[in-house]
Amino acid sequence: MRPFKFSSANDARSAVQTISANKDAKFLAGGTNILDLMKEDVERPTALVDVSRLNLTQIKSANGGLSLGALAKNTDTANHPLVRQNYPLLSQAILAGASQQIRNMATNGGNLMQRTRCQYFYDVAMPCNKREPGTGCGALEGINRMHAVFGWSNDCVAVHPSDMCIALVALDATVKVQGADGKERSILFADYHRLPGNTPQKDNNLNQGELITAIEIPKNNFANKSYYLKVRDRASYAFALVSVAAALEMQGNVIAVGQLVRLSD
Ligand SMILES: Cc1cc2nc3c(=O)[nH]c(=O)nc-3n(C[C@H](O)[C@H](O)[C@H](O)COP(=O)(O)OP(=O)(O)OC[C@H]3O[C@@H](n4cnc5c(N)ncnc54)[C@H](O)[C@@H]3O)c2cc1C
Ligand code: SF4
Repeated sequence: MRPFKFSSANDARSAVQTISANKDAKFLAGGTNILDLMKEDVERPTALVDVSRLNLTQIKSANGGLSLGALAKNTDTANHPLVRQNYPLLSQAILAGASQQIRNMATNGGNLMQRTRCQYFYDVAMPCNKREPGTGCGALEGINRMHAVFGWSNDCVAVHPSDMCIALVALDATVKVQGADGKERSILFADYHRLPGNTPQKDNNLNQGELITAIEIPKNNFANKSYYLKVRDRASYAFALVSVAAALEMQGNVIAVGQLVRLSD
């Protein structure tokens, strides 16, 4: 592992300022993805700023919908009564991911920011445009059973591996982020992650240094009749081959509104 500086943030503003000033610095939340990537030499931050103690852990009703703190743990989010009762697909999606121990550490913000599980991305001896732009895509003609059917490009055929994110798209969620100037902005979840195009190294539309502070789910009439289905090679510790988040607004026996999001194949 390469040497790096470590600091703990006391408030969001100073955390954002530190990361904004150094393009090679990264936030550390639960550490379940970034530390693995550093050990594999895929990510090489020169500094880590621990944000895990910031007061961004709320899971509460807001404007008839739901506000999820970026630093709330995946386990606490999945098991919260408001989530279980009103947003069953979100609870199901989180619980379909990783293991209990990992979900106990993983945060909501970190889940959105986790990187692809493409084997070529993790192997620094292999070509990968996402890890090292311009080197090629090992998966295009290689092992790509878990990769994209839709939205891929000749530069990258990877998918984002999160289960939780599929549910959040179906729920029309927005991501609240804070920038170096202290200002907050909201990004519609459907616009948050990017298709690879010819810049696969950019997973999302966050600006350098921006901190996710919350995920907000608006009031709707379909979330409580919803389901998350994940098809995978084994019952635990496996990323999706294909997954579907579906929600229906019913008027009697008639479907008034249907929301459907499909991940990969
Ligand atoms: C063995 C294993 C199996 C897994 N299986 C699944 C699975 O089946 N489905 C699934 O969905 N996931 C799975 N995961 C992934 C897991 O869900 C993620 O590792 C986890 O959600 C990341 O959260 P974290 O808080 O640990 O993030 P960290 O590792 O701390 O950070 C990840 C990235 O997010 C950035 N970051 C963290 N918080 C913020 C923030 N608030 N604002 C901006 N940037 C931030 C960090 O800088 C870093 O780049 C698995 C992980 C492992 C290790
Ligand atoms: S699919 Fe994307 S992540 Fe995988 S090797 Fe190709 S460029 Fe890299």
